[in-house]
Amino acid sequence: MKRICVLPGDGIGPEVVASAVKVMEAASDELEFVHADIGRAAYERHGSYLPGETLKSMRECDSSLFGAVTTVESADYSSPVLTFRKELDLYANVRPVRSLVQISGRPPIDVVIVRENTEGMYTQNEVFDDVGVTTMRKVTRKASERIVGFAIRYARAHGRRRLTCVHKSNVLKASDGLFVSTFRELMASGGRDLEGDEQLVDSCALKLVTEPSAFDVIVTLNLYGDILSDVAAGVAGGLGFAPSGNIGDRHSVFEPAHGSAPDIAGKGIANPTAAILAAAMMLKHLGLGADGSRMEAAVMQFYSSGHLTADLGGRHGSESFTEHVLKNLKPGPKH
Ligand code: ATP
Repeated sequence: MKRICVLPGDGIGPEVVASAVKVMEAASDELEFVHADIGRAAYERHGSYLPGETLKSMRECDSSLFGAVTTVESADYSSPVLTFRKELDLYANVRPVRSLVQISGRPPIDVVIVRENTEGMYTQNEVFDDVGVTTMRKVTRKASERIVGFAIRYARAHGRRRLTCVHKSNVLKASDGLFVSTFRELMASGGRDLEGDEQLVDSCALKLVTEPSAFDVIVTLNLYGDILSDVAAGVAGGLGFAPSGNIGDRHSVFEPAHGSAPDIAGKGIANPTAAILAAAMMLKHLGLGADGSRMEAAVMQFYSSGHLTADLGGRHGSESFTEHVLKNLKPGPKH
């Protein structure tokens, strides 16, 4: 049995996570669920956005499924997401984006963005002085080696052929330069079976929109990966379509790439696709690949049968989408 820590969070988080849990329960006999609080609900109940008990459950479980949290404008707020990434040493953020539905005027996309998840602009080291604010951006050799090494292994394990390093080393010569030179070294020593190339982040953003087939797997720094994965999700149909995994050597947390979308929370129209695909990624990561693949196939069948969710102008809200996915789920060997 695998134990999954379920963290619904705020906004549409509980809606899309509930849908993903239903689909996981139907897809696999190998799972046990432990529920834990994060975000505003956690603050109201325990006085903390990420209580110690929650972090303990995340550590003890085999993996976690997280919804989303709403950022709070308050002096005592620190992001629970950045905290759990740091505490659990989740150094790789993996965001696969694939078109599940043909959208007029947008080319098909199938790309995996592997984003460095521990440093860059996300160390939140900002210093005020009399003229403004200086933000420190950290790029280390160790973190660059870890993420590039991860991306090489990921590409190989998933039958991908090309790895593109995305950076801005023409301007940030030292920091992004270090990232690129690490990429070159590792590709020359351990990634020779893959095709390697390099791209500036601005032209990568353009090409993701105009010619996404130019990319297979992208490895990049923290902020660039955050932005580019939303661009890629937009090409595929919107934020409701992009799952993501925060992965370390011991722990992992899977989540939809979107946030808590307070504008649509409680309306029953959130698209649970990204959350279900994140749950499928988690099962694959835990060695339950067949169950994860059946979940993905059930989601793909929804779209290939011509159905559309509300975010794409269709008539299916969260509940009716989930019912279709459950109906599409092929029985597993143990059913
Ligand atoms: P947060 O502050 O938590 O990041 P946000 O609304 O600023 O929330 P997102 O949650 O990432 O940012 O979403 C941006 C917009 O995309 C939302 O306002 C919503 O309209 C749409 N959106 C995001 N996720 C979904 C989803 N699963 N289904 C449908 N629409 C979505």
